[in-house]
Amino acid sequence: MRRCKICQKEAVVFFKSHRISLCEEHLKSFVEKRVKEAIKSHKMINRGEKILIAVSGGKDSLSLWQILTNLGYEADGMFIDLGIPGFSQESWEKCEKLSRRLSRKLFKTSLEEIFGMNLLDIAKLERRVPCASCGMIKRYIMNNFALKNGYKVIATGHHLDDECSILLGNVLNWQVEYLRRQDPSLKEENGFVRKIKPLVLCSEEEIENYARVMNIDHVGKGCPLSKGATSHFYKSIMNQIEEKMPGTKLRFYKGFLKIKKDTFGDEKPAELKPCIRCGYPTTAEICSFCRLHERIKTKISQQNPEKMEEPLS
Ligand code: SF4
Ligand code: ZN
Ligand code: ZN
Repeated sequence: MRRCKICQKEAVVFFKSHRISLCEEHLKSFVEKRVKEAIKSHKMINRGEKILIAVSGGKDSLSLWQILTNLGYEADGMFIDLGIPGFSQESWEKCEKLSRRLSRKLFKTSLEEIFGMNLLDIAKLERRVPCASCGMIKRYIMNNFALKNGYKVIATGHHLDDECSILLGNVLNWQVEYLRRQDPSLKEENGFVRKIKPLVLCSEEEIENYARVMNIDHVGKGCPLSKGATSHFYKSIMNQIEEKMPGTKLRFYKGFLKIKKDTFGDEKPAELKPCIRCGYPTTAEICSFCRLHERIKTKISQQNPEKMEEPLS
């Protein structure tokens, strides 16, 4: 029987990368301590700031919500219903359940309300894979909501495995601009709220175990539209390396953050101006969100000419 390295009680987990066995209680404090460390070292949250968490119903964002609440932060959730059959409703229910347990606010909006169609219909209309529009839409909605409702920070549940897979992709393709921008804390500027990733020092395995011992009910599977995504392939490569050489993921990511500025230079501030339709910061006259909205309105009015007079919200 393995024993907890800290209290000698029966261990429930062994983390190979840290060569440490932990009991339930110390697993919980281990993960929360790492989140605290990430928040502190990357100056993610200032005292008294309200945080808006992008919750999806998965283990990562819901664990983040639990952790930030346990650490004493005022964190509320925002769920964007993408309208994915057999997935979005269950995801919403898991978020609702945790919001009740934490007694924190949970907001919801849906693509159906905003565009009059779900993500799959948008993808069909755009003739692109759903993920191509999804990220931009979610970023826009979250930022706008945060600005209008007094949230200074948007937090997402990206963990170490996510960041390593993004980093590997950026390095393999030498995406220097993306490498400059890959950061656990993107400061607020030009109408963008600060965006933080407090789980970056925790591996997916650590978060999975945290969710289990904290009884966080979550959707078991990821978004069904992510099948075949390159990020899954990069993650499996990183897992194979980690298996042979425990601790690689953390070294890879922390090493990158250390050399990032000297190697890739400072981020060049993009020349942004407010979108002439909605005021969102953009490099073009009209932002991508408004352009998408326009295309959808045109398509709907072509299909239902009688609805042409009815403006979409
Ligand atoms: Fe959106 Fe699903 Fe793609 Fe993630 S995997 S960007 S949630 S469609
Ligand atoms: Zn213990
Ligand atoms: Zn706009």
